[in-house]
Amino acid sequence: MSGRRILLLGHPVEHSLSPAFQQAAFDSIGLPVTYEAMDVAPADLARVVAELRADPLVMGANVTVPHKEKIAPLLDSLTDEAVQIGAVNTITRAGSRLVGRNTDAAGFRGALNGLLDGRRTPRHALVLGAGGAAKAAISALVTAGVAQISIANRHLARAERLVAEVRKASPHLTVRAAPWHEGLLIEEAQIAGLVVHATTLGLSDGALPLPAAAFRAGQFVIDVVYAPGETALVHTARAAGAEAIDGREMLLLQGAAAFELWTGRPAPLEVMRAAFDAAAGHAQK
Ligand code: NDP
Repeated sequence: MSGRRILLLGHPVEHSLSPAFQQAAFDSIGLPVTYEAMDVAPADLARVVAELRADPLVMGANVTVPHKEKIAPLLDSLTDEAVQIGAVNTITRAGSRLVGRNTDAAGFRGALNGLLDGRRTPRHALVLGAGGAAKAAISALVTAGVAQISIANRHLARAERLVAEVRKASPHLTVRAAPWHEGLLIEEAQIAGLVVHATTLGLSDGALPLPAAAFRAGQFVIDVVYAPGETALVHTARAAGAEAIDGREMLLLQGAAAFELWTGRPAPLEVMRAAFDAAAGHAQK
C-alpha cells in the first residue's frame, strides 16, 4: 500500500457503512485516498496507534465501538470537545502528532436541526443512555438551547455520574438522572418535547427501548441507532404521531464533519448520502 489512507478502527467493523460513503466522497472530488476498515482487537489498540503515528501516509482515522474512550490517552492531544464528551470518533494528523476529536455532537446537532426544520428546540429532553453517543447528544442539546434534560440509564449510577459532569459543565441547565423503569420512562417521555434514544438496544435485535404509550403527536424523537429500514423505535413513535428519525443523518453528518477535518474541503454530502443508501440497501439483502 503506497497511497494515503484513512482508517476506521473498531471491533467488529465489517458491517460499518462508513467505508462506502467516505470512499465515494474521496473518489468524487478526485482525492487519491483509500478509506479502509481495520478490525482492531482491544489488546492491539496501543500498538496500532503507534503504527499509525509512525506512518505519514495515514492522514487520520475514525474510531468506533469499543475504542472511542480507550483510545483517548493513546493520542498526543485532544480537542476540548473530545475531552468534554469523553470519547474520540475522529483522529487527524498534525505532523507526527495524532489529535483526537469528536464529530458525533456535530452530527447529532445537524440531525436535530433537520428534524426541527426551523421550529424551536423543545425545552425538555429525555435522553435514554449514558454512553458515548448519549454524551455527544447531550453536548449538542446544550448548545441547541434545551433547558431541562432527564438522563435515564439501565445502570443508574452511570446516569448519575453523567448528570454530575453535565451540571459542572453547564450549571444553568436543569439535569437529573432517571431510573430505567418502564412506567417512569413513559411519564418522562410524555412530558418531554424531545426523546433521544442512545443505547445499543435495537441495533441488531429490533428491541424497543420504550413502548408506544411513551409517544404522542407534537413530540420529536431521535433514535441514534441506525439499522436498514425503519428502527422499531422510529416505527412506534411515528405510529403514535411523533416526528421521528433514526441515526442515518447523524452518522452521515459526523462523517461529513470528519471528511472536512481531514481534507479542509467541503464534504460532498449528496454523494455520501447516495453511497450510504446504496450500501445500506445492499447490507439489507
Ligand atoms: P456505549 O457502549 O458507550 O453505551 C452503551 C449504552 O447502551 C449504555 O447507556 C448502556 O447502558 C446501554 N445499554 C446496553 N445494553 C443495554 C440493554 N440491554 N438495556 C438497556 N440499555 C443498554 O455505546 P455508544 O454510546 O457509543 O453507542 C450507543 C448506540 O449509539 C449504538 O447503537 C451506536 O451504534 C449508536 N451510535 C450512533 C451514532 C450515529 O452517528 N448514528 C454515533 C455513535 C453511536 P449501561 O450503562 O447500563 O450498560
